[in-house]
Amino acid sequence: MLEIKNLSASIAGKPILDKVNLTINKGEIHALLGPNGSGKTTLLMVIMGMPRYEVTAGTITFQGKDITKATIDERARAGIGLAFQRPPVVRGVTTRQMVEICSGSKDEAQTKALATRLSLEPMLERDINQGFSGGEAKRAEMLQLLAQNPDFAMFDEPESGVDLDNMAIVGGAMAEILETKEMRRTGDRNKAGLIVTHTGHILEFVNADFGHIFMHGSIVCNGNPRDLFAEIRENGYEECVRCNKCQK
Ligand code: ADP
Ligand code: MG
Repeated sequence: MLEIKNLSASIAGKPILDKVNLTINKGEIHALLGPNGSGKTTLLMVIMGMPRYEVTAGTITFQGKDITKATIDERARAGIGLAFQRPPVVRGVTTRQMVEICSGSKDEAQTKALATRLSLEPMLERDINQGFSGGEAKRAEMLQLLAQNPDFAMFDEPESGVDLDNMAIVGGAMAEILETKEMRRTGDRNKAGLIVTHTGHILEFVNADFGHIFMHGSIVCNGNPRDLFAEIRENGYEECVRCNKCQK
C-alpha cells in the first residue's frame, strides 16, 4: 500500500529525515517508536504532503502511484489520513463542517451518529478544537478520520495528553478506523496504519504487527513491537544505535 524509498527531507533548510525506507502492506499496522525530536512527526507530515517540508531525495509510492510531489488534498482524496499529535485550532470552520467535508456528505443523522459515538455531539457547532480539552481534541481527530474513512491512516502519538478513559475511546476508534474488528470477523483487512507512540500505551488497545525504532531521522531497528518496547524499557534508545542484533 505504501512504499517509502530512501526518503530524505528537511524543514526550514534543516535536514531531518535521512534515507528512510519503509514498506507497509495492505492489512498491516506498524508502530514507530523513537525519542523526542527524532523526526517521527516530520515523517508523517512528509507522507501527508504538508507544505513547508521539502523532500530532498527519495520517493513515496501509494497504491502503486508515485505521490512524492502530490498535493495534500490529492493524497487525502487518494486515501491517506492523519491524526495530529497537536491538533490545530481552526477558527471559522465548525467541527460539523469538517466532518461533512471529510465524509463528503451532509447527512445530518450520520454526522450526529459519529459524533455521539465519540461523545462530541456538543462540539459539532464549535470551531475545530477551539477551547477543546486534550481528550476532546484527540477524539475530534478520530471523528474526522472516521468520517474520511482513509485506506491508510496515520496516528501521531494518539495517547499524548489523554487520560485512561479517553485512551480507551481513542483506541476503540483507531481499531475501527483500521478495521481490526473487521479482520477478526472476516480474516481480511483492507486498511493499513502507522502509529507513532512514545510510550507504547496505545498498543494495549490497538495491536501493531510490526515495530520500527526511529532515531536521528531514520529507522535503526525493526522487530516485534512488544519486544522492542521491552528492550527500550530495559536499555533505553541509545542502546539501539549500538546494538547490531536486528536486521536494518
Ligand atoms: P518527533 O516527532 O520525533 O519528536 P519532530 O519531527 O517533531 O520529532 O522534530 C524533528 C526535528 O525537527 C526537531 O529537532 C524539531 O525541532 C525540528 N523541527 C520541527 N519543525 C520545525 C520547524 N518548523 N522549523 C525548524 N525545525 C523544526
Ligand atoms: Mg512528534
